[in-house]
Amino acid sequence: MASILLVEDEEAIREMVAMALERSGYRVRHAESAEDAEAALRLSLPDLILLDWMLPGESGIDFARRLKRERATRELPIIMLTARGEEADRVRGLDTGADDYVAKPFSPRELTARIKAVLRRVQPTAGEEAVEIRGLRLDPVSHRVTVAGREIDLGPTEFRLLHFFMTHTDRVFNRAQLLDNVWGANVYVEERTVDVHVRRLRKGLAPTGHDGLVQTVRGAGYRFAAE
Ligand code: CA
Repeated sequence: MASILLVEDEEAIREMVAMALERSGYRVRHAESAEDAEAALRLSLPDLILLDWMLPGESGIDFARRLKRERATRELPIIMLTARGEEADRVRGLDTGADDYVAKPFSPRELTARIKAVLRRVQPTAGEEAVEIRGLRLDPVSHRVTVAGREIDLGPTEFRLLHFFMTHTDRVFNRAQLLDNVWGANVYVEERTVDVHVRRLRKGLAPTGHDGLVQTVRGAGYRFAAE
């Protein structure tokens, strides 16, 4: 069963969430601050972090940014818990590298559904074949993207997005279609989330010049150009 590190300073929420997750079969560890969480991460890495936005000391956003910068924790999926409803804030949350966010108040059921969706998209099905286009190679089993043997660092969502593009080339997909296919139909994220992750994907592909393969089709969406 997957293990989750819950970082939340409010005791009532922490207990409610921990209980719901344990009931769903997850192993849960908790931390009350970024500092606490860091100590917990040094002991062992969870499969996913549930990270509250507003924490005493270092904020959840800054902590998420830091985790995504460090090699050891870069691949860790993060779901932000946030009390703020404003769209700009949400997108900013995703810009930190968080894979999803859940706004408070949320139901335990909604939360576990989102956790499941994130875990599903970071754990590719075994036996999937590697794809290679114009020297860019993606291996779903080892979860690596390489160019001439050199690894390209991508976040879990960018990896999924690239995998989808590389297996559905030369067709235009609008944002809603990408959300359905890459994020899953039951995940409620705004369409502009797609733009955030496409931007991040291009940035990851830029050093080897593969960013141009992800093309914007004005008024329509995005296309991965294999031809
Ligand atoms: Ca809090």
